Amino acid sequence: MALRPKRIADMIGQQEVIDVLRIAIDAARKREQPLGHILFDGPPGLGKTTFATCIPREMGVSVQMASGPALKAPKDIIPYLTNLEQNSVLFVDEIHRLPKAVEEYLYTAMEDFRIDIVLGEGVSARTLNLQLKPFTLIGATTRAGMLSGPLRDRFQIRQHLGFYALTELQEIVTRNSQKLAVEVELPAATEIARRGRGTPRIANNRLLWVRDYAMAKSDGRVTFDIACNAMDMTGIDALGLDKLDRRYLETLIRVFSGGPAGIEAIAHTMNVSADTLVDEVEPFLLRSEMIVRSSRGRFVTHRAFEHLKIAAPADGESDLPLFKQS
Ligand code: ADP
Repeated sequence: MALRPKRIADMIGQQEVIDVLRIAIDAARKREQPLGHILFDGPPGLGKTTFATCIPREMGVSVQMASGPALKAPKDIIPYLTNLEQNSVLFVDEIHRLPKAVEEYLYTAMEDFRIDIVLGEGVSARTLNLQLKPFTLIGATTRAGMLSGPLRDRFQIRQHLGFYALTELQEIVTRNSQKLAVEVELPAATEIARRGRGTPRIANNRLLWVRDYAMAKSDGRVTFDIACNAMDMTGIDALGLDKLDRRYLETLIRVFSGGPAGIEAIAHTMNVSADTLVDEVEPFLLRSEMIVRSSRGRFVTHRAFEHLKIAAPADGESDLPLFKQS
């Protein structure tokens, strides 16, 4: 938690998102109104929660944190809504996992700052129409596609967070090493960033592990060799893939002859949940062009064979779409 930037100015990368937010925050502050509702989507660890905690600080308002799966019924979200202060923020993580009934309950809250509360039961039940304080809902999701249209349309600002460039991750590693008061040589910082899969959370985790390793194995200074040895030891390879990423590729190649294979079949074979694979493993493999997702399923590319040092089938010798034609 100590590594999480506190202000938007401390955040690195995502410049386009920051530019949009700065304008919106500026305008909302001048009007003394809440910001429009904001939806962030993108793979885990790219800064959705960080934005959701920095924005209220910039606005000078309070924030409440909730999570989609924990809000099982409308009654679970009522306390959050009634506790809202003027222009404050309600953050709902994993908003695509809100049950339908809760989602529908949010519609009037988002649009008119109003909810209906049913008091009592049976014939004596009464409906109380409650006015809420104007607020901003910030939603975060790893699966924008799973959000229903009506919910998605109620967000005025929708921003996608993409993977970070190597230089940006390197800057994050360097800044965080200062926060942790560990000396990390520049080539080591670059290597940690290179193996960070374009994701600040992963780069931070690699940094913490490398720091521990350096303290245990030497004087605590992180040199290039120390960083490489530490990451090699835990199975993090030169591209930043970890054991699970490689197991995914190996399963796809070995069991499914390279694909196409459905995600459920791959997940069952690996004994890992399909959600984990879709959210945490596939986005980076797709971006590094090691797998392709088609309507028939997932299949590997030449690059995956090369990376795993497995001999690829000769052209024309495999049913894999990439090797079919000679
Ligand atoms: P998400 O909510 O998208 O899963 P988080 O916001 O929790 O991701 O980010 C994970 C960690 O990565 C944070 O604790 C923070 O330290 C770091 N981080 C994320 N985005 C940035 C950024 N733009 N600059 C610096 N550090 C970042």
